[in-house]
Amino acid sequence: MFEIAANTQLHTPYSDGHQYHREIAQEAARAGLQAVIATDHNVRVFGVEGYYHGVLLLTGEEVHDRRRASGNNHCLVYNCDEEMSPWAPAPQKLLDAVRERGGLTFFSHPFRREPRGRDDRQAPCWTHWDLQRFTGIEIWNHQTEYKSWRLNLPLFVFASLFPSLLISGPFPATLRKWDELTAGGRRIVGIGGSDAHGGSIGIGPYRRKVFPYEYAFRTINTHLLIEEPLTGDLAKDKAMIYGALQAGHCFVSYDLSAPGRGFIFNAQSGADQAIQGDDLPRRGAIHLYAECPSSAHIRLLRNGRTVAETRGRTLRHTTSDAGVYRVEAWRRFRGLPRGWIFSNPIYVR
Ligand SMILES: [Zn+2]
Repeated sequence: MFEIAANTQLHTPYSDGHQYHREIAQEAARAGLQAVIATDHNVRVFGVEGYYHGVLLLTGEEVHDRRRASGNNHCLVYNCDEEMSPWAPAPQKLLDAVRERGGLTFFSHPFRREPRGRDDRQAPCWTHWDLQRFTGIEIWNHQTEYKSWRLNLPLFVFASLFPSLLISGPFPATLRKWDELTAGGRRIVGIGGSDAHGGSIGIGPYRRKVFPYEYAFRTINTHLLIEEPLTGDLAKDKAMIYGALQAGHCFVSYDLSAPGRGFIFNAQSGADQAIQGDDLPRRGAIHLYAECPSSAHIRLLRNGRTVAETRGRTLRHTTSDAGVYRVEAWRRFRGLPRGWIFSNPIYVR
């Protein structure tokens, strides 16, 4: 398999972003990405997909029902050659309509940190957990984590100068929900993104462009494992990218901490082998293997519970237990242990 780094959630001036597609691709090239997917709010932009500055730019859409609370129930739609926002008021119909058209759906930033003083600091942003037939969820969203802190002006000024101090990992509530869904027998693909807008944010008169696109593209990315290197052919490369997303052949990496490129998670049982995202039939012993490109605290989880952990670059674990296995790697960055790499599960049945 070949690996490419992609950013799967970002915005342009067609909704609330601040630069157009071609410029965004240039920023992505500077950040070392191979692909970006623009996901404007309730608008699918046609006619701009292609290669710019060596980066493949695709367009999807982030759909939500404008009549309800605007920050909730955002759904990323990919690989669907139609405007899907008219389906927003009926979320299950939206998911089914996208699926019928060969597209993919991911619940965007499904949890947020709530203001201090409330017991549940991670109230859901996504409220329709009874829905079926979606592809996955966004397990880590850079902008949502940053904006989830409620800061007064002095703290905001400090944080806008050192924004990476506020980024520590996916919300535990998101990971718990993901594990709950997959342990229940479902395949749920996890992705992560910058949610780049490129504008300034601020309090009162103090405004600052905290996350230019290039910076945002150096933060949380989804690394995709594809069958062959990108060819330069739009249709073929697009199919490989969406195929990898659908299969869960991908992992989320906070590349600002250290480049995630080269991370491996695979498993073997009998003559069968699996990479992340795959099903693996259990035939006696199951051998799981994870390898990080730098030293980290690596944890192997089965159905949401840690079953093996180590500090270093590799983790090996042999078991006879079926279950849903995924890997987390944490490493020290800017003085604290912070989330780094989050694999997709291998589903051992
Ligand atoms: Zn959103």
